[in-house]
Amino acid sequence: MDFAQRMSRLGTETAFEVLLRAQALEAKGRKIVHLEIGEPDFDTPRNIRRAAIEAIEAGFTHYGPSAGLADFRKTIADVFGKERNIPCDADNVVVTPGAKPIMFFTMLALLEEGDEVLYPNPGFPIYESVANFLGARTVPLALKVENDFDLDLRELESKITSRTKLLILNSPHNPTGAVLKPETVRAVAELARKHSFSILSDEIYARILFEGEHLSIASLPGMAERTIVLDGFSKTYSMTGWRLGFGIMNKDLQKHVARLMTNSNSCTATFVQKAGIEALTGPQGEARAMVEEFRQRRDVMVAGLNAIPGVKCAVPHGAFYVFPDIRGTGFSSKDLATQLLDEAGVACLSGTAFGQFGEGHIRFSTANNLDNIRQALQNVGDFLSVRMK
Ligand code: PLP
Repeated sequence: MDFAQRMSRLGTETAFEVLLRAQALEAKGRKIVHLEIGEPDFDTPRNIRRAAIEAIEAGFTHYGPSAGLADFRKTIADVFGKERNIPCDADNVVVTPGAKPIMFFTMLALLEEGDEVLYPNPGFPIYESVANFLGARTVPLALKVENDFDLDLRELESKITSRTKLLILNSPHNPTGAVLKPETVRAVAELARKHSFSILSDEIYARILFEGEHLSIASLPGMAERTIVLDGFSKTYSMTGWRLGFGIMNKDLQKHVARLMTNSNSCTATFVQKAGIEALTGPQGEARAMVEEFRQRRDVMVAGLNAIPGVKCAVPHGAFYVFPDIRGTGFSSKDLATQLLDEAGVACLSGTAFGQFGEGHIRFSTANNLDNIRQALQNVGDFLSVRMK
């Protein structure tokens, strides 16, 4: 078979590859602590599971509208419009199987070959992958620990050209856990208005916030029209396998994205959408408890990593990752991540899995219980005490 040239430009997510390698080691009898994958380790709250079962029993097992069930879209618009101060109604919303398709579909709908996409680096690898796949020019914005992993506005401004079409924001941020400062968000909005580019605002970790405030750029004057807010249920409600996400965008783009849904998935599973209504309108206790648990784990992880010579870990303010600076160990990111898995039994990701500016860091997910996190810290410390260069 001859594959289309564009396939050579499609990237991937290393987390899934590391998971496979870790599982292969486990199959040989090795004990591995899994801190590689970005998926909460909790069960989906019981009320949500029950709502899905009831929806199946009630016959929500057929095709539905491509953009999503009208009552679910209205619930999303009501809940997030209020919570994030975004002017929107049901016709601004498209429901998708997971949030990832919103990245794919909005870039498909917006980008011509040669258009420029600005995106955070390190950052979620799919942004760069999809933009490259579509023949756009990818323009990374380096996030540095010295700048609290915030956007460097001077760098951003210097990289804006007449071809700049889209800027991707992600706050709280994967992999650093950083939260954009409100003044940064305001400055980015001003640049977007001045230079007429659109924003894809990935807010999937917005409710997993430990300190500070989440300011959605779509809430700022004139920004709802030029912003696509991406969010979903995978992280907040521990629903990764259900595949449920959505985008909030202007009504013209919403129609295009709905048509892309018709052409690809037809619709998102209807009983899953019913469960989504319960997730948003039912009790929030379990979701809040997860955030508290992530906060405790973060505190243990940051303190434990900072006690290891050669490792410095900034405090993440949201999401469930830590992104320590490992330059003091003498290892490259990739070598350290590989050897921690092979020799210390700790699965984590090289910072470079999130782009070239991730060099000097590794990412640990805190989606594992405290006992396992303490074990991982012990293993990493023991490994480095012998092997540090
Ligand atoms: N955005 C970010 C920053 C993520 O980390 C993830 C998942 O890892 C997603 C989006 C996609 O989530 P999903 O497709 O499971 O809703």
